[in-house]
Amino acid sequence: MTFQLTRRALLQGAGITLAGSVCPLTAVASGVKKAIDAMPDMYWGACVVNCGNRCALRVFTKNGQVIRIETDNTSNPCCPQPYQLRACLRGRSMRQRLYNPDRLKFPMKRVGERGEAKFERISWDEAYQLIADNWQRILKNYGPDSVYINYATAQQTSVSGSNCWKRLANLTGGYLNWKGSYSSAQITAAFPMTYGRKVASSPTEIAHAKLYVSFGDNLSVTRISGGSMSWQFLQAIEKNHVKTIVIDPICTDTVAGKVNQWIPILPGTDAALCEALAYEFITHNWVDQEFLDKYCVGYDEKTLPKSAPKNGDYKSYILGKADGVAKTPAYASAITGIPEETIIALAREMGTTKPVFVAQGLGPQRRANGEETARAIAMLPILLGQVGLPGTSSGMEECGTDWWPIGIPRGNNPVKASIPSFMWTEAILRGHEMTATHDGVKGVDRLKNDIKMVINSGGNILINQHSDCGRTDKILRDTSKCEFIVVCDNMMTASCRYADVLLPDTLGNETEDLVGNGDSMGETAFITPIHKAVNPQWEQRST
Ligand code: SF4
Repeated sequence: MTFQLTRRALLQGAGITLAGSVCPLTAVASGVKKAIDAMPDMYWGACVVNCGNRCALRVFTKNGQVIRIETDNTSNPCCPQPYQLRACLRGRSMRQRLYNPDRLKFPMKRVGERGEAKFERISWDEAYQLIADNWQRILKNYGPDSVYINYATAQQTSVSGSNCWKRLANLTGGYLNWKGSYSSAQITAAFPMTYGRKVASSPTEIAHAKLYVSFGDNLSVTRISGGSMSWQFLQAIEKNHVKTIVIDPICTDTVAGKVNQWIPILPGTDAALCEALAYEFITHNWVDQEFLDKYCVGYDEKTLPKSAPKNGDYKSYILGKADGVAKTPAYASAITGIPEETIIALAREMGTTKPVFVAQGLGPQRRANGEETARAIAMLPILLGQVGLPGTSSGMEECGTDWWPIGIPRGNNPVKASIPSFMWTEAILRGHEMTATHDGVKGVDRLKNDIKMVINSGGNILINQHSDCGRTDKILRDTSKCEFIVVCDNMMTASCRYADVLLPDTLGNETEDLVGNGDSMGETAFITPIHKAVNPQWEQRST
């Protein structure tokens, strides 16, 4: 247990001491009191943006103002446990965000055309009434599946953000949900088809490998902060001298000066490289046949059902029996831009070294047919039998613990339908035509309604994060399609411009909350309380 010395405790202690003395307040005591008064109060907080981490922050206040924000510095950075969760500059600059002149200060309603960003200040009561009237109208005219709560990840806490909106929607009949994410929809869909579910080892497992091979995995930039995967990756390769080979179109920060070999590749061609590696594994007899026979279906024809088409197995495809094209290093070289001899050498290295840890970042899958790229990479550890053993992984991005504190209960959503997160503009235009087979709708065969109301809380998806902004702008400006948009945010973002009602949210230490460790922290596991340190300066309210 730790004891935290606060200004109040010190003053109480000083008071007891002085009360027990016969002397009046001396100059020394007065000096002590002055010094104590000058001490700021410290509150724990967290950086809750969507970088994958949730670094703890130390927030110092004086006279009701945040005067500075520091990183966690409460443990020994040289010890692996407990981790010192050192925030990056983004987290440490949260004070600038808190006192940014562009903070939304009051509730507002649209007075110009939608998208023009002409607003007028209204009271919270007026805002509540406007939202309630429109929500009820849309529920009555179309039904709850016409109300969509948008994907938003700027506020990763267990109470604030869209949690309360979802609870409210569930209490009013439900809402159309989304599935998948802009970050990882393809790999999330692909991995269950190969492994049954998404599985991977944590980065600390790399320390037990002899060889680490990754595809488009830029941990030093995408998995940063003191306690994250980036740190664990560097610890593993530095302490245990694991040979590291990174395949990436860019000489990233993960590559520069840290790994043994960088193999540049033309973007989007990873699957061709994997096929050529598989060709080399097969033709040099480096595959783990026993593992494949025992645990896999479809590597060769003997594990396929009799009804399978001739040469429908993976091995036949790689050797060219299925399509007449053997997936040789020469074949892959022409597609990937990697010299043939480099592919041959990489295959030999992987085929003859054990344990080998294979990983991929989210970049290779984030493109058309990205599912197939993700699965092609996953085949490498499977072929070599390098799965489920110390020092190995599944070929997916490294994973770890993901602690999520209990938050506000959302209740059950009576609407069972969900759409791929990327398809919400389509659902505004032609939701009633969208089906499970054609559009990836889940939970129902076909949507009943178009989206008529969007709630966008804690995210800039409406126009900034979604692709093809020009098209999205046209769709959102047409008030006959999506009839009502509520945006709740901290700043006047691009998405705010499209709001019919715009609500100012609290930020960071203006409210009490909890946050878990996120999905980029490797084996680090923690929950950080966010204490209210200051009152909102204007009329911001927590959602
Ligand atoms: S690493 Fe991520 S969570 Fe940590 S301070 Fe930086 S932006 Fe915030």
